[in-house]
Amino acid sequence: MTIQCIDMRHRIAVVGSGPGGLTFARVLHRHGHAVTVLERDPGPDARPPGGTLDLHEGLGQLALDKAGLLAEFEALSRPEGQAMRILDTDGTVLRDWRPRTDDRANPEIDRRQLRDLLLAPLDVQWGRRVTQVVPGQQEGTQVHFADGRQETFDLVVGADGAWSRTRPAVSPVAPHYTGVTSVETSLDDVDTRHPDLARLIGDGSVAAYGVNRSLVAQRNNGGHVKVYAKFRAPLDWHTNLDPADAEAVRASLLALFDGWAAPILDLLRHGTAFVHRPLYALPVSHTWTHVPGVTLLGDAAHLMPPLGAGANLAMLEGAELAESLATAPGDPDEAVRAFEERMWARAGRWAKITTAGLERLVSPDPAEAIAQFDRVQPS
Ligand SMILES: Cc1cc2nc3c(=O)[nH]c(=O)nc-3n(C[C@H](O)[C@H](O)[C@H](O)COP(=O)(O)OP(=O)(O)OC[C@H]3O[C@@H](n4cnc5c(N)ncnc54)[C@H](O)[C@@H]3O)c2cc1C
Repeated sequence: MTIQCIDMRHRIAVVGSGPGGLTFARVLHRHGHAVTVLERDPGPDARPPGGTLDLHEGLGQLALDKAGLLAEFEALSRPEGQAMRILDTDGTVLRDWRPRTDDRANPEIDRRQLRDLLLAPLDVQWGRRVTQVVPGQQEGTQVHFADGRQETFDLVVGADGAWSRTRPAVSPVAPHYTGVTSVETSLDDVDTRHPDLARLIGDGSVAAYGVNRSLVAQRNNGGHVKVYAKFRAPLDWHTNLDPADAEAVRASLLALFDGWAAPILDLLRHGTAFVHRPLYALPVSHTWTHVPGVTLLGDAAHLMPPLGAGANLAMLEGAELAESLATAPGDPDEAVRAFEERMWARAGRWAKITTAGLERLVSPDPAEAIAQFDRVQPS
């Protein structure tokens, strides 16, 4: 019997070098298949990479296994970073959960470390901003770039995140505002500069939940801490505020969290720059009619509230699509169709979980947040 795999001459492109796009490219690379990675950023360090990611055993870690990178991940990741402490807004410790030393369920890794791990042998085309993807052309699927150039591929995978330029080729749907905004700040060298806060945060995260707002601080590698203030607000809550004016943003956050215990508010008092991130999501079960020559994965396909699933799903999808293109017998378009069905089913389940989770974690009743923690992390 002849096993027909994807033809080595098939021209495959992935738009975006986030966790999903890089995992897709890395698994294809492992199977010896060429792939063009198109990224709008001018280089790998053009933007701050963002905070730490926890990679689940059956999702992100499984993807890294398919990429042959699990051992490297285990050497870099921080299982102790799974620790989670919950405070009342008056500073009382309500929960103090620490993982066992052999707990590998969701270890943390900094995004930069993960990116470098995936990137190593790949030849990303930096500075290639895609403006449009047009399938069904005589030569295949056309990719249009911001500099006016065009290229044609047999398959274009849109792993270009929340505001995907690939998505309109398959779906007219755009993300909607969830009603929750996050403002992010950070602390450097916390163990030396802010030892009290370092103790408060511990090895992992500390969170406090109030009425329609929450404050979470999460330790990254090297004494760096990311702080996330989340609250329910209209999209234009900051109309009278200059987002570049750190002192004005700090003052407005301190007013929003007025009455909370001083050590919790110190996370905001000592934060450096502030980044405004309204949280958007796609509808919970976002699907589309299959279009030959183009597909989506990760946030481009199923943007959901950031509750620890998005990068994991993007990576596993990237790994599974690459693996089935490289190894599954039959028509590559059939492999893409089967991939989409599987992705939609799994992502739909996670979208429901994370949407309900956000409702509980930024809720009129803070007890909902504690109950949510106890459901996810029973002691
Ligand atoms: C504060 C926060 C914390 C989070 N924590 C976690 C966590 O702990 N665990 C977890 O699993 N998930 C987490 N997430 C979610 C996670 O970050 C995303 O789901 C994940 O990054 C999605 O990966 P992706 O590859 O689909 O897209 P992205 O990471 O968004 O990557 C998209 C890439 O495409 C590029 N791009 C975009 N447009 C174009 C274009 N037109 N042309 C070319 N390139 C383009 C971008 O520059 C980027 O490199 C968190 C999110 C936030 C905001």
